[in-house]
Amino acid sequence: MIEPSINHFLSFTPSIDKVILDTPSSLSLGMLRLDQIHPVISGNKWYKLKYNIEKALSNKANTLITYGGFYSNHLIATAAAAKAFGLKSSAIVRGLQGNKRLTPTLQACIELGMQLQFVSKEQYAQLKTTAGVASLLQRYPKAFVVPEGGNNELGIEGTKEIVSFIPEDYTHVAVSVGSGSTIAGIRQALKKELIVVGFIPMKQGKYLQEAPHLKTLNLTLFDEFHLGGFGKYQPELIYFMNRFYANNRIPLDIVYTGKMMLGLQQLIIQNYFPKSAKILCIHTGGLQGNVSVAGQLDFE
Ligand SMILES: *Cc1c(COP(=O)(O)O)cnc(C)c1O
Repeated sequence: MIEPSINHFLSFTPSIDKVILDTPSSLSLGMLRLDQIHPVISGNKWYKLKYNIEKALSNKANTLITYGGFYSNHLIATAAAAKAFGLKSSAIVRGLQGNKRLTPTLQACIELGMQLQFVSKEQYAQLKTTAGVASLLQRYPKAFVVPEGGNNELGIEGTKEIVSFIPEDYTHVAVSVGSGSTIAGIRQALKKELIVVGFIPMKQGKYLQEAPHLKTLNLTLFDEFHLGGFGKYQPELIYFMNRFYANNRIPLDIVYTGKMMLGLQQLIIQNYFPKSAKILCIHTGGLQGNVSVAGQLDFE
């Protein structure tokens, strides 16, 4: 098999679709469809992995090791990307499996050849430390360790490339925030006149404002649209995602982009944005995570 080169893999320009919300406002909204770059290596995750994989290949590593939870978009993207580049993959999974059934995400990871190691929350935290990474490399000397979520300098470097898809005439960019690497790369590479608003889908996520990779950046972060907390949802969110799909034929994901667009709609209703605003919403993907709510979503 000939492995693709990093810069030619998934290198096409994603489309920007017009978005209509249930508001009387006439604000102009577009959505950058990073969800469409690949069915599994979806959205922002490819950009965060890209230079990590390049480094792994130049180090002659044969395995990617990374970290994530039972529903992690990052794990499944890593499994698929490693496979595409002829690397093995292994995941440190946060939480013990016990006799629970594998989640669809982890099942798919296994099918993509990823090896899973379930560890307690304490062990997981330990394995993420510098000493923990060193212990992994001792056990797997030919591995390259990618941090949880692909959140390192190389990950941020990759997400800067998303800016090349943002046309000049937008005034605002809306991004969903997990670790904040994606918004950090976008903010760093974007012209300073543009306003970047981030939506954090977890409770009390404002602490991210003070995180080392974000605190010097000019960002406006919202953490009030979490709808119960990370990975949690309410009927209101399902209703909104179905309305959004009916209006736009764009599927949103239940963890990140659904909450972002619902929050954005509420801000628009509150007249948060000036009338002249032109907002580009980044669809960061994550649609694989909808499996658990598929029965409630009227997506085609
Ligand atoms: C991982 C993820 C995010 C968060 O990205 P960060 O770089 O960690 O902030 C946003 N949206 C989706 C769909 C994701 O899978």
